[in-house]
Amino acid sequence: MSLDTLFGLQGKLAVVTGGARGLGLGIARGLARAGADLVLLDRTASKEAESELSSLGVRVRSLQADLADAAGLAETARRVLEASEGRADILVNNAGLQRRVNWDQHTQADWDIQLDVNLRAAFVLSQQLGAAMAQRGAGKIINIASIRSIAASPAALGYGVSKAGLAQLTRSLAVALAPAGVQVNAIAPGYMQTALTAALSGDATASASALSRVPAGRWGRPDDLQGLAVFLSSAASDYVTGALIPCDGGFLAC
Ligand code: NAP
Repeated sequence: MSLDTLFGLQGKLAVVTGGARGLGLGIARGLARAGADLVLLDRTASKEAESELSSLGVRVRSLQADLADAAGLAETARRVLEASEGRADILVNNAGLQRRVNWDQHTQADWDIQLDVNLRAAFVLSQQLGAAMAQRGAGKIINIASIRSIAASPAALGYGVSKAGLAQLTRSLAVALAPAGVQVNAIAPGYMQTALTAALSGDATASASALSRVPAGRWGRPDDLQGLAVFLSSAASDYVTGALIPCDGGFLAC
């Protein structure tokens, strides 16, 4: 099998939540470079992201939805299926947020929004799009988990619980969908420089303290996720399912 057949995504369609910026945009870039058409699902669409990704020679459509709206999730999944003309080959559950606050200041509202966006939305989209993939006998679901799926932090209480839940959702769906030819895996990014971590990376002392736990000695970049995202979307990973793969400069190895 040629490398193009193994890793190429020509003729595939990928849905990326939170694909307009940050890590989602890095992932979308990788998938587009491998040839996949894209549906980006964001709360705020971005014309810049759309035109950057289109310039890579693939078709890009943007949908707007608030994934914190639990009651609207089934309708959002229906719109995604409609926009992908029933052929979503790849779903990347990337949209997410973090309320960074010490454990004793963590409110129920903080808990709810992180569990709703980071976990519930991934569950509903995976269930609806996964069912369509299973009917076609093929598909790839990639959940963007975190080092906080495994390593706890008192400043990331609800976040860590949502990401640990996402890791277990990954394994549960992997087992459920393996017989139908659908693979479900997760990527666990470490300290990545995006809007989500701007307060940390912008504070010299906090940034140095974070990097002291990263053997690679630098912040991750959105484009660092491209290779793993392409691998987990491609035929090269057809016998890989239920895995949680770190992309963390060695954080979890310590
Ligand atoms: P980011 O730059 O803040 O981007 C987050 C994305 O999620 C944005 O596109 C945002 O869209 C979308 N989003 C947030 N709430 C949403 C909602 N209610 N409905 C729809 N979309 C929503 O953060 P990032 O660092 O790229 O994070 C992407 C994913 O990676 C998250 O799941 C995060 O937990 C995970 N992660 C990040 C790091 C890190 O160090 N940065 C590490 C591990 C895991 P809008 O801007 O339109 O709201």
